[in-house]
Amino acid sequence: MKIAFVAMSGVRVQDEDLLREGLTLPGFVERSEVIASLPSLGLLTLAGLTPGYHEKAYFEVKQFEGIDFLSADFDLVVISSFSAQIFEAYDLAKACRIQGMKVIMGGLHVSLNPHEAMNHCDAICLGEGEILWAQILGDFEKDEVKKVYDASGQEYCLQNSPMPAYELLDPSFYNRLTIQTSRGCPHSCEFCAGSILLTSKYKQKPAEKILAELDRICELWDRPFIEFADDNSFVNKKFWRELLPEIQKRNIRWFTEADIAVGDDEDFLDLLFQSGCKELLIGLESPVLNGLDGIELRNNWKAKRIETYKENLLRIQQKGIRVNACFIIGLDSHDERIFDAVYDFCDECNVYDVQVTLPTPFPGTELYKRLKKSGRLLEDQAWDKCTLFDLNFEPIHFTYDELRDGFRGLVKRLYAKEFTNKRREHFKRQWKLARTV
Ligand code: SF4
Repeated sequence: MKIAFVAMSGVRVQDEDLLREGLTLPGFVERSEVIASLPSLGLLTLAGLTPGYHEKAYFEVKQFEGIDFLSADFDLVVISSFSAQIFEAYDLAKACRIQGMKVIMGGLHVSLNPHEAMNHCDAICLGEGEILWAQILGDFEKDEVKKVYDASGQEYCLQNSPMPAYELLDPSFYNRLTIQTSRGCPHSCEFCAGSILLTSKYKQKPAEKILAELDRICELWDRPFIEFADDNSFVNKKFWRELLPEIQKRNIRWFTEADIAVGDDEDFLDLLFQSGCKELLIGLESPVLNGLDGIELRNNWKAKRIETYKENLLRIQQKGIRVNACFIIGLDSHDERIFDAVYDFCDECNVYDVQVTLPTPFPGTELYKRLKKSGRLLEDQAWDKCTLFDLNFEPIHFTYDELRDGFRGLVKRLYAKEFTNKRREHFKRQWKLARTV
């Protein structure tokens, strides 16, 4: 078969004022652009599992730009999309089917909204796609396609992970390449729309598979920048202590997401730095306890860790690793004091990068269920508002406009050139000083 793997990509923001103002601020666009230009690892993994006798191609679709593959004669189009782009993905599926191509859709949004998604394509795949991929390909080849392929509730063992088909990517198009080292997270945040919605376990990919993927990327790219596409990388520090010296030998630069516990150990941070770790994205969510309390549903972990926020951030940055500190503005316990609290925290800690978002009720999350149950969702199933920057619920301690306008004001202050430069210069000075001591 001739198969197209199609990822919906690009940043989406519905709030036109924020789009107009925010996207002119360099710090605001940097991370969004990085995310927007990451290839879909899920699709590359399925492509890697697809036998070589099939013809394969990978496409990114940014708001219907570059959809020339519609004129190509594919037998099967595999579409993956986040919630924010799902309506565009449905339109694309329709266009493909009009051209006579068969379409299967999968990924997190589809897995959580099967009844919606199945109306837009020939088949849907629920859960971890690798589990049923061989069967799906066989059924499409025989033209015996089922409407639903359901792997939900089953666990894919990462020991069996295939090599993602990185060779399908155009190297000139990407500034980072992704490798997944784990799935899941031991925490359970109410708003989390990550892999905890697909797997109940924390699963670690074997070290030899990770290193083989790194070596493959290094064959295709010179000195690549790697993003480990995990939700929470260093849950098993013993595993990483053994892996990091091997990564160091590859002479790469890399980035990942972690929780604040990564800053507990000086020697672990030394290993990270030596192995090429340049930046860590850490979900702090709130600099004040009243926003954090109750946010992590299993052990209230994030509230318990607030005491370590500042000292751990300082320790990480002193080791020469930049921090991208992430905050969610407008959590239920927040009031108008949160805007200054976040600004002051960033000022004091001099975090190199900052990311602020609004609470977003992604489908399947406990946050979505709670807001829906209490009648606080403004527009149910408005998935195109699941952008992290569009408010779609009734806040408690703000009016809608107060939260939206306050958020915009904070974005302007945080990403102002002078403030960004001040934090970054401080990081450089601090790191230089630490090296001379
Ligand atoms: S720590 Fe991050 S990945 Fe883990 S549950 Fe919370 S939001 Fe999700």
